[in-house]
Amino acid sequence: QTAARVPSAVRLPVRPEHAGLEPYGAPQLDVPVLLNVNENPYAPSDEVVATIAAEVAAAARGLNRYPDRDFLDLRADLADFLAVESGVRVPAEQVWAANGSNEVMLHLLQAFGGPGRTALSFAPTYSMYPEYARDTATRWVEGRREDDFTLDADAAVATVREHAPSVILLASPNNPTGTALPPETVAAICEAALEIEVPVPGAEPGCAVVVVDEAYGEFRRAGTPSALELLDRYPNLAVSRTMSKAFALAGARLGYLAASREIVDALRVVRLPYHLSAVTQAVARAALAHSASLLAQVDALRAERDATVDWLRARRYQGRPLEVAASDANFVLFGRFDDRTAIWQGLLDRGVLVRVVGPDGWLRVSIGTPEEMTAFKDALVEVAGL
Ligand code: PMP
Repeated sequence: QTAARVPSAVRLPVRPEHAGLEPYGAPQLDVPVLLNVNENPYAPSDEVVATIAAEVAAAARGLNRYPDRDFLDLRADLADFLAVESGVRVPAEQVWAANGSNEVMLHLLQAFGGPGRTALSFAPTYSMYPEYARDTATRWVEGRREDDFTLDADAAVATVREHAPSVILLASPNNPTGTALPPETVAAICEAALEIEVPVPGAEPGCAVVVVDEAYGEFRRAGTPSALELLDRYPNLAVSRTMSKAFALAGARLGYLAASREIVDALRVVRLPYHLSAVTQAVARAALAHSASLLAQVDALRAERDATVDWLRARRYQGRPLEVAASDANFVLFGRFDDRTAIWQGLLDRGVLVRVVGPDGWLRVSIGTPEEMTAFKDALVEVAGL
Protein backbone atom coordinates (compact mmCIF):
# COMPACT_ATOMS: atom_id res chain seq x y z
CA GLN A 1 0.00 0.00 0.00
CA THR A 2 1.19 3.46 -0.79
CA ALA A 3 0.44 6.18 1.70
CA ALA A 4 -1.47 9.14 0.32
CA ARG A 5 0.91 11.99 -0.31
CA VAL A 6 -0.04 14.88 1.93
CA PRO A 7 1.66 18.01 0.70
CA SER A 8 2.84 19.95 3.68
CA ALA A 9 2.69 23.45 2.23
CA VAL A 10 0.68 23.53 -0.96
CA ARG A 11 0.52 26.94 -2.60
CA LEU A 12 -2.90 27.16 -4.25
CA PRO A 13 -3.67 29.70 -6.97
CA VAL A 14 -6.13 31.54 -4.71
CA ARG A 15 -7.59 34.56 -6.46
CA PRO A 16 -5.77 37.62 -5.10
CA GLU A 17 -9.04 39.26 -4.02
CA HIS A 18 -9.76 36.20 -1.83
CA ALA A 19 -6.32 35.94 -0.21
CA GLY A 20 -6.51 35.69 3.58
CA LEU A 21 -10.30 36.12 3.72
CA GLU A 22 -12.56 34.35 6.22
CA PRO A 23 -15.87 32.87 5.01
CA TYR A 24 -18.91 35.06 5.74
CA GLY A 25 -21.19 34.11 8.60
CA ALA A 26 -22.31 34.96 12.11
CA PRO A 27 -21.06 32.69 14.91
CA GLN A 28 -23.31 29.58 15.22
CA LEU A 29 -23.26 29.13 19.00
CA ASP A 30 -25.31 26.78 21.14
CA VAL A 31 -27.03 29.20 23.53
CA PRO A 32 -30.62 29.32 24.82
CA VAL A 33 -31.73 32.61 23.21
CA LEU A 34 -30.73 32.98 19.55
CA LEU A 35 -31.45 36.52 18.36
CA ASN A 36 -28.58 37.02 15.92
CA VAL A 37 -29.54 36.03 12.37
CA ASN A 38 -33.09 37.34 11.99
CA GLU A 39 -34.72 33.92 11.91
CA ASN A 40 -38.36 33.35 12.73
CA PRO A 41 -38.45 31.87 16.26
CA TYR A 42 -41.55 29.75 15.56
CA ALA A 43 -40.92 26.23 14.22
CA PRO A 44 -43.40 24.78 11.71
CA SER A 45 -46.52 23.14 13.18
CA ASP A 46 -46.95 19.35 13.26
CA GLU A 47 -49.42 19.63 10.39
CA VAL A 48 -46.92 21.52 8.21
CA VAL A 49 -44.17 19.06 9.16
CA ALA A 50 -46.43 16.14 8.13
CA THR A 51 -47.18 17.68 4.71
CA ILE A 52 -43.51 18.44 4.09
CA ALA A 53 -42.52 14.89 5.08
CA ALA A 54 -45.16 13.36 2.76
CA GLU A 55 -44.12 15.54 -0.19
CA VAL A 56 -40.44 14.80 0.39
CA ALA A 57 -41.26 11.05 0.48
CA ALA A 58 -43.05 11.39 -2.86
CA ALA A 59 -40.10 13.28 -4.33
CA ALA A 60 -37.70 10.65 -2.97
CA ARG A 61 -39.33 8.00 -5.20
CA GLY A 62 -38.07 9.91 -8.24
CA LEU A 63 -34.62 10.87 -7.00
CA ASN A 64 -32.91 8.71 -9.65
CA ARG A 65 -34.02 11.41 -12.12
CA TYR A 66 -32.84 15.01 -12.29
CA PRO A 67 -35.41 17.50 -10.99
CA ASP A 68 -37.63 19.77 -13.07
CA ARG A 69 -35.03 22.22 -14.37
CA ASP A 70 -37.43 25.10 -14.91
CA PHE A 71 -39.58 24.39 -11.80
CA LEU A 72 -42.61 26.15 -13.30
CA ASP A 73 -44.99 24.58 -10.75
CA LEU A 74 -43.00 26.08 -7.89
CA ARG A 75 -42.78 29.42 -9.73
CA ALA A 76 -46.58 29.39 -10.18
CA ASP A 77 -47.08 28.71 -6.45
CA LEU A 78 -44.70 31.57 -5.59
CA ALA A 79 -46.59 33.89 -7.98
CA ASP A 80 -49.86 32.93 -6.25
CA PHE A 81 -48.32 33.68 -2.88
CA LEU A 82 -47.08 37.11 -4.01
CA ALA A 83 -50.54 37.95 -5.35
CA VAL A 84 -52.10 37.18 -1.97
CA GLU A 85 -49.37 38.87 0.09
CA SER A 86 -48.99 42.09 -1.88
CA GLY A 87 -51.91 42.24 -4.33
CA VAL A 88 -49.52 42.18 -7.30
CA ARG A 89 -50.03 39.32 -9.77
CA VAL A 90 -47.15 38.32 -12.04
CA PRO A 91 -47.08 35.30 -14.39
CA ALA A 92 -45.02 32.28 -13.29
CA GLU A 93 -42.51 33.03 -16.07
CA GLN A 94 -41.69 36.30 -14.31
CA VAL A 95 -40.71 34.52 -11.10
CA TRP A 96 -37.26 33.08 -10.48
CA ALA A 97 -35.99 31.05 -7.52
CA ALA A 98 -32.77 29.63 -6.12
CA ASN A 99 -31.21 28.27 -2.93
CA GLY A 100 -31.92 31.28 -0.75
CA SER A 101 -32.20 34.86 -1.94
CA ASN A 102 -28.43 35.01 -1.58
CA GLU A 103 -28.19 32.73 -4.61
CA VAL A 104 -30.93 34.67 -6.44
CA MET A 105 -28.86 37.85 -6.05
CA LEU A 106 -25.65 36.07 -7.01
CA HIS A 107 -27.44 35.05 -10.23
CA LEU A 108 -28.28 38.74 -10.81
CA LEU A 109 -24.62 39.71 -10.42
CA GLN A 110 -23.52 36.82 -12.65
CA ALA A 111 -25.97 37.95 -15.32
CA PHE A 112 -25.49 41.71 -15.14
CA GLY A 113 -22.17 42.34 -13.36
CA GLY A 114 -18.69 41.16 -14.28
CA PRO A 115 -15.28 42.64 -15.10
CA GLY A 116 -15.40 46.30 -16.10
CA ARG A 117 -18.83 46.76 -14.50
CA THR A 118 -19.97 48.28 -11.21
CA ALA A 119 -22.47 47.25 -8.53
CA LEU A 120 -23.76 50.00 -6.24
CA SER A 121 -25.53 50.03 -2.88
CA PHE A 122 -25.98 52.46 -0.01
CA ALA A 123 -24.23 51.79 3.33
CA PRO A 124 -24.79 50.67 5.97
CA THR A 125 -26.45 47.71 4.31
CA TYR A 126 -26.37 43.91 3.98
CA SER A 127 -22.78 42.79 4.19
CA MET A 128 -23.15 40.01 1.59
CA TYR A 129 -23.63 42.52 -1.27
CA PRO A 130 -19.90 43.31 -1.64
CA GLU A 131 -19.26 39.56 -1.62
CA TYR A 132 -21.56 38.94 -4.60
CA ALA A 133 -19.64 41.70 -6.38
CA ARG A 134 -16.23 40.35 -5.40
CA ASP A 135 -17.08 36.79 -6.48
CA THR A 136 -18.29 37.96 -9.90
CA ALA A 137 -15.31 40.31 -10.41
CA THR A 138 -17.65 43.29 -10.37
CA ARG A 139 -16.39 46.65 -9.03
CA TRP A 140 -18.12 47.54 -5.75
CA VAL A 141 -19.20 51.10 -4.89
CA GLU A 142 -21.02 52.27 -1.77
CA GLY A 143 -23.09 55.44 -1.54
CA ARG A 144 -24.16 56.67 1.89
CA ARG A 145 -27.46 56.64 3.72
CA GLU A 146 -28.54 59.66 5.80
CA ASP A 147 -27.82 59.76 9.56
CA ASP A 148 -31.25 58.22 10.25
CA PHE A 149 -30.45 55.47 7.68
CA THR A 150 -33.04 56.69 5.16
CA LEU A 151 -32.08 57.36 1.56
CA ASP A 152 -32.30 60.85 0.07
CA ALA A 153 -33.78 60.26 -3.40
CA ASP A 154 -31.93 63.15 -5.09
CA ALA A 155 -28.59 62.20 -3.54
CA ALA A 156 -29.15 58.53 -4.49
CA VAL A 157 -29.96 59.47 -8.09
CA ALA A 158 -26.84 61.63 -8.25
CA THR A 159 -24.75 58.69 -6.96
CA VAL A 160 -26.29 56.41 -9.60
CA ARG A 161 -25.42 58.92 -12.37
CA GLU A 162 -21.90 59.39 -11.01
CA HIS A 163 -20.98 55.69 -10.97
CA ALA A 164 -23.10 54.37 -13.88
CA PRO A 165 -23.48 50.92 -12.28
CA SER A 166 -24.97 47.94 -14.11
CA VAL A 167 -26.58 46.67 -10.87
CA ILE A 168 -28.04 48.70 -7.98
CA LEU A 169 -28.87 46.77 -4.78
CA LEU A 170 -31.45 48.34 -2.46
CA ALA A 171 -32.45 46.41 0.66
CA SER A 172 -35.94 47.41 1.81
CA PRO A 173 -36.39 46.88 4.71
CA ASN A 174 -32.65 47.34 4.98
CA ASN A 175 -30.41 45.03 7.00
CA PRO A 176 -29.06 45.91 9.59
CA THR A 177 -31.04 49.14 10.04
CA GLY A 178 -34.65 48.00 9.39
CA THR A 179 -35.33 51.00 7.15
CA ALA A 180 -37.91 50.58 4.36
CA LEU A 181 -37.77 52.70 1.20
CA PRO A 182 -40.81 54.64 0.00
CA PRO A 183 -41.86 53.58 -3.53
CA GLU A 184 -41.17 57.15 -4.80
CA THR A 185 -37.49 56.71 -3.94
CA VAL A 186 -37.32 53.32 -5.66
CA ALA A 187 -39.13 54.77 -8.68
CA ALA A 188 -36.70 57.72 -8.90
CA ILE A 189 -33.75 55.32 -8.82
CA CYS A 190 -35.38 53.05 -11.46
CA GLU A 191 -35.89 56.10 -13.72
CA ALA A 192 -32.25 57.15 -13.34
CA ALA A 193 -31.17 53.54 -13.91
CA LEU A 194 -33.04 53.41 -17.22
CA GLU A 195 -30.91 56.34 -18.43
CA ILE A 196 -27.57 54.68 -17.55
CA GLU A 197 -25.57 53.41 -20.50
CA VAL A 198 -23.58 50.28 -19.64
CA PRO A 199 -21.31 49.38 -22.57
CA VAL A 200 -22.08 46.02 -24.20
CA PRO A 201 -19.41 45.21 -26.82
CA GLY A 202 -20.94 44.64 -30.24
CA ALA A 203 -24.40 45.80 -29.15
CA GLU A 204 -26.33 48.82 -27.93
CA PRO A 205 -25.53 49.87 -24.34
CA GLY A 206 -27.74 48.44 -21.57
CA CYS A 207 -29.46 50.24 -18.71
CA ALA A 208 -28.83 49.54 -15.01
CA VAL A 209 -30.81 46.81 -13.22
CA VAL A 210 -32.35 47.81 -9.87
CA VAL A 211 -32.69 45.02 -7.30
CA VAL A 212 -34.99 45.71 -4.35
CA ASP A 213 -34.15 43.08 -1.74
CA GLU A 214 -37.35 42.54 0.25
CA ALA A 215 -36.06 39.65 2.36
CA TYR A 216 -37.98 41.21 5.28
CA GLY A 217 -40.82 42.61 3.16
CA GLU A 218 -43.64 40.80 4.96
CA PHE A 219 -42.73 42.56 8.23
CA ARG A 220 -43.16 46.07 6.81
CA ARG A 221 -45.47 48.41 8.69
CA ALA A 222 -48.96 49.20 7.39
CA GLY A 223 -48.84 51.89 4.72
CA THR A 224 -45.43 50.88 3.34
CA PRO A 225 -46.12 49.38 -0.11
CA SER A 226 -43.91 46.69 -1.66
CA ALA A 227 -41.73 47.58 -4.65
CA LEU A 228 -43.64 44.79 -6.43
CA GLU A 229 -46.18 47.52 -7.23
CA LEU A 230 -43.60 49.19 -9.50
CA LEU A 231 -42.89 46.08 -11.59
CA ASP A 232 -45.29 46.93 -14.41
CA ARG A 233 -43.58 50.32 -14.87
CA TYR A 234 -39.93 49.25 -14.76
CA PRO A 235 -38.59 46.37 -16.89
CA ASN A 236 -35.20 46.99 -15.21
CA LEU A 237 -36.56 46.23 -11.70
CA ALA A 238 -36.24 42.92 -9.82
CA VAL A 239 -37.87 42.44 -6.41
CA SER A 240 -36.22 39.70 -4.36
CA ARG A 241 -37.95 37.78 -1.55
CA THR A 242 -37.16 34.79 0.64
CA MET A 243 -38.91 32.02 2.54
CA SER A 244 -36.22 32.29 5.25
CA LYS A 245 -37.71 35.03 7.41
CA ALA A 246 -41.46 35.69 7.67
CA PHE A 247 -42.10 32.24 6.17
CA ALA A 248 -40.10 30.58 8.95
CA LEU A 249 -38.23 28.31 6.53
CA ALA A 250 -34.59 29.40 6.71
CA GLY A 251 -33.40 25.79 6.78
CA ALA A 252 -35.03 24.95 3.44
CA ARG A 253 -33.01 27.53 1.47
CA LEU A 254 -35.52 29.01 -0.93
CA GLY A 255 -35.32 32.57 -2.23
CA TYR A 256 -37.10 34.02 -5.24
CA LEU A 257 -37.75 37.18 -7.21
CA ALA A 258 -40.29 38.78 -9.50
CA ALA A 259 -39.06 40.76 -12.50
CA SER A 260 -39.60 41.31 -16.21
CA ARG A 261 -39.34 38.33 -18.55
CA GLU A 262 -36.13 39.84 -19.97
CA ILE A 263 -34.46 39.81 -16.57
CA VAL A 264 -35.63 36.26 -15.79
CA ASP A 265 -34.40 35.04 -19.19
CA ALA A 266 -30.94 36.46 -18.43
CA LEU A 267 -30.91 34.64 -15.07
CA ARG A 268 -31.81 31.33 -16.69
CA VAL A 269 -28.56 31.57 -18.68
CA VAL A 270 -26.31 31.73 -15.60
CA ARG A 271 -27.98 29.19 -13.31
CA LEU A 272 -26.40 25.77 -13.01
CA PRO A 273 -28.59 23.05 -14.51
CA TYR A 274 -30.95 21.56 -11.88
CA HIS A 275 -29.83 24.07 -9.25
CA LEU A 276 -33.03 23.55 -7.22
CA SER A 277 -33.10 19.96 -6.00
CA ALA A 278 -36.31 17.92 -6.20
CA VAL A 279 -36.29 17.86 -2.38
CA THR A 280 -36.03 21.65 -2.15
CA GLN A 281 -38.85 22.08 -4.67
CA ALA A 282 -41.05 19.61 -2.76
CA VAL A 283 -40.40 21.30 0.59
CA ALA A 284 -41.07 24.76 -0.80
CA ARG A 285 -44.31 23.72 -2.51
CA ALA A 286 -45.54 21.90 0.59
CA ALA A 287 -44.77 24.98 2.71
CA LEU A 288 -46.49 27.30 0.22
CA ALA A 289 -49.63 25.17 0.52
CA HIS A 290 -49.55 26.10 4.22
CA SER A 291 -48.50 29.73 3.85
CA ALA A 292 -51.28 31.03 6.10
CA SER A 293 -50.12 28.80 8.96
CA LEU A 294 -46.42 29.54 8.43
CA LEU A 295 -47.00 33.29 8.28
CA ALA A 296 -49.43 33.28 11.19
CA GLN A 297 -46.88 34.73 13.60
CA VAL A 298 -45.91 37.71 11.44
CA ASP A 299 -48.41 40.04 13.13
CA ALA A 300 -47.24 38.94 16.57
CA LEU A 301 -43.60 39.47 15.56
CA ARG A 302 -44.41 42.94 14.22
CA ALA A 303 -46.13 43.87 17.49
CA GLU A 304 -43.19 42.48 19.49
CA ARG A 305 -40.82 44.51 17.27
CA ASP A 306 -42.74 47.74 17.89
CA ALA A 307 -42.83 47.03 21.61
CA THR A 308 -39.07 46.35 21.60
CA VAL A 309 -38.41 49.67 19.82
CA ASP A 310 -40.57 51.52 22.39
CA TRP A 311 -38.91 49.76 25.30
CA LEU A 312 -35.40 50.53 24.05
CA ARG A 313 -36.29 54.17 23.29
CA ALA A 314 -37.43 54.64 26.88
CA ARG A 315 -34.05 53.48 28.25
CA ARG A 316 -31.01 55.61 29.07
CA TYR A 317 -27.42 54.45 28.77
CA GLN A 318 -24.76 56.47 30.61
CA GLY A 319 -27.10 59.42 30.99
CA ARG A 320 -28.31 59.68 27.39
CA PRO A 321 -31.30 57.99 25.72
CA LEU A 322 -30.51 54.89 23.68
CA GLU A 323 -30.63 55.45 19.93
CA VAL A 324 -32.99 53.07 18.19
CA ALA A 325 -33.51 52.87 14.40
CA ALA A 326 -37.11 52.79 13.15
CA SER A 327 -37.74 49.22 11.92
CA ASP A 328 -39.94 47.63 9.26
CA ALA A 329 -38.20 44.28 9.75
CA ASN A 330 -38.00 41.50 12.37
CA PHE A 331 -34.98 43.06 14.07
CA VAL A 332 -33.98 46.30 15.73
CA LEU A 333 -30.68 48.22 15.56
CA PHE A 334 -29.85 50.03 18.76
CA GLY A 335 -26.91 51.78 20.42
CA ARG A 336 -24.69 53.49 20.76
CA PHE A 337 -22.36 51.75 23.19
CA ASP A 338 -18.80 52.82 23.90
CA ASP A 339 -17.74 49.17 23.72
CA ARG A 340 -20.40 47.20 21.88
CA THR A 341 -18.38 44.00 21.92
CA ALA A 342 -18.37 44.09 25.72
CA ILE A 343 -22.18 44.48 25.74
CA TRP A 344 -22.49 41.63 23.20
CA GLN A 345 -20.26 39.42 25.36
CA GLY A 346 -22.19 40.31 28.53
CA LEU A 347 -25.46 39.30 26.83
CA LEU A 348 -23.85 36.08 25.58
CA ASP A 349 -22.64 35.28 29.11
CA ARG A 350 -26.33 35.46 30.09
CA GLY A 351 -27.36 33.10 27.28
CA VAL A 352 -28.54 35.74 24.79
CA LEU A 353 -26.88 35.94 21.37
CA VAL A 354 -27.30 39.18 19.39
CA ARG A 355 -25.23 40.52 16.47
CA VAL A 356 -22.37 42.98 16.33
CA VAL A 357 -23.15 44.66 13.01
CA GLY A 358 -23.74 48.11 11.58
CA PRO A 359 -21.90 51.34 12.34
CA ASP A 360 -19.58 51.42 15.33
CA GLY A 361 -21.38 51.33 18.67
CA TRP A 362 -24.59 49.67 17.42
CA LEU A 363 -25.98 46.17 18.04
CA ARG A 364 -28.77 44.33 16.26
CA VAL A 365 -31.33 42.12 17.99
CA SER A 366 -33.70 39.83 16.09
CA ILE A 367 -37.28 39.59 17.33
CA GLY A 368 -37.93 36.31 19.12
CA THR A 369 -40.78 34.94 21.22
CA PRO A 370 -42.06 37.10 24.12
CA GLU A 371 -40.07 34.89 26.53
CA GLU A 372 -36.89 35.38 24.50
CA MET A 373 -37.42 39.15 24.38
CA THR A 374 -37.89 39.23 28.15
CA ALA A 375 -34.60 37.35 28.55
CA PHE A 376 -32.93 39.86 26.20
CA LYS A 377 -34.30 42.90 28.06
CA ASP A 378 -33.42 41.52 31.50
CA ALA A 379 -29.89 40.72 30.36
CA LEU A 380 -29.43 44.13 28.71
CA VAL A 381 -30.57 45.99 31.83
CA GLU A 382 -27.96 44.08 33.82
CA VAL A 383 -25.11 44.34 31.35
CA ALA A 384 -25.53 47.95 30.22
CA GLY A 385 -26.90 49.25 33.50
CA LEU A 386 -29.90 50.78 31.72
N1 PMP B 1 -31.11 39.85 2.05
C1 PMP B 1 -31.01 40.34 3.27
C2 PMP B 1 -31.19 41.80 3.48
C3 PMP B 1 -30.73 39.48 4.34
O1 PMP B 1 -30.61 39.98 5.57
C4 PMP B 1 -30.58 38.10 4.11
C5 PMP B 1 -30.30 37.10 5.21
N2 PMP B 1 -29.62 37.50 6.28
C6 PMP B 1 -30.68 37.64 2.79
C7 PMP B 1 -30.95 38.54 1.79
C8 PMP B 1 -30.44 36.22 2.41
O2 PMP B 1 -31.33 35.33 2.95
P1 PMP B 1 -31.60 33.92 2.31
O3 PMP B 1 -30.43 33.53 1.46
O4 PMP B 1 -31.80 33.03 3.48
O5 PMP B 1 -32.84 34.08 1.49
